[in-house]
Amino acid sequence: MKLLEHEAKALLRAAGVPVPGGTLVTHGADPTPLSLPAVLKSQVPVGGRGKLGGVVVVEDQAALGATTEALFSLEIKGHKPRVLLAEEKLAIEREHYVSLLVDRASASIHLVAHKEGGIEVESNDSADFLNVPVNADSLDDAASRLAEHLGYGAPLVRPLLARLYAAFIKNDATLLEVNPLVYTASGELVCGDCKMELDDAAAFRHPEWDFEDIPKDTNFVVLDPSGTVATIANGAGLAMATVDAVAASGLKPANFLDIGGGANTESVLKAFRRIMEFPSVNAIVINIFAGITRCDEVARAVIAAKKQINGLPPLFIRLAGTNFEEAVALLSAEDIPTLATLEECLEKAKEAAHA
Ligand code: GDP
Ligand code: MN
Repeated sequence: MKLLEHEAKALLRAAGVPVPGGTLVTHGADPTPLSLPAVLKSQVPVGGRGKLGGVVVVEDQAALGATTEALFSLEIKGHKPRVLLAEEKLAIEREHYVSLLVDRASASIHLVAHKEGGIEVESNDSADFLNVPVNADSLDDAASRLAEHLGYGAPLVRPLLARLYAAFIKNDATLLEVNPLVYTASGELVCGDCKMELDDAAAFRHPEWDFEDIPKDTNFVVLDPSGTVATIANGAGLAMATVDAVAASGLKPANFLDIGGGANTESVLKAFRRIMEFPSVNAIVINIFAGITRCDEVARAVIAAKKQINGLPPLFIRLAGTNFEEAVALLSAEDIPTLATLEECLEKAKEAAHA
């Protein structure tokens, strides 16, 4: 699950990581008590807000009302904010990039950093990033490497990395990205922005998790944020088998999803919307063996998704079981084909990926 910036920053603050002082602004509430100058930041679950006008410095009262209104109306990559984060404006000297992430290939946590952070971080040469495995025992070494890479003394960097690492572990994060990590005019390192993803599979041990985007009604697990094939199946066993089959065919599964017995059009549509947040997904494989789940309900969700979601990747659908004929009739009336087996779905998904 992806957290909003203000949710991630609350977790960082609790772990003792320096974050700017801030308050939330809700739509319609009077923003005038804010101390100015402030930075108003749209709380949408996507990055790149700065470039798209979602981060605005407000210098005086005169600009505050209009800026607030404009940010609430501004859609960023398909999302409008429910709240804004108003933060004290930082006196930025330098912007760096620092992240912790689960490296699946080596089954370890990696520290990835770059001296040049900020909104142009994607244009950095990938060879210039610091990228080292890190664990509780090697934290001090990693902190020294990070300090050297960023150009600071180890005493400034060591407590910061230790606290970021503690926040990562405590919250079962899969990604904690600070960009920019700001070096301020007063010589401190402060987290200017934070993107955090938590492991959905760890939700059972976090009764305290209460976030805007928490997936309550679907059993959706992010497997690989850069995965290319999204999966929708019913029943935990079939959903796991579907993920395995995608991987075995040489494709990269992005998620596990068991839509469960009580799936309805709305809950399946919600799953499609979550899938759209994966930047690299170019195929959706739907594998349903319907018992309590009804194929026609899945078909209705597929049709609704096709109509409502722009840029929906190609669907490869295999259905069997309850109300199969009705589902096929509904889908073929909309020119949406179904396939007889999962193998066929994967073959076609592969062809589409290479087309
Ligand atoms: P993102 O574009 O969604 O990653 O949003 P960020 O929160 O990273 O903001 C983008 C850029 O806005 C940052 O790289 C900064 O240059 C600028 N920015 C953000 N917060 C502040 C601040 O408090 N003060 C100043 N001067 N600039 C800020
Ligand atoms: Mn950022």
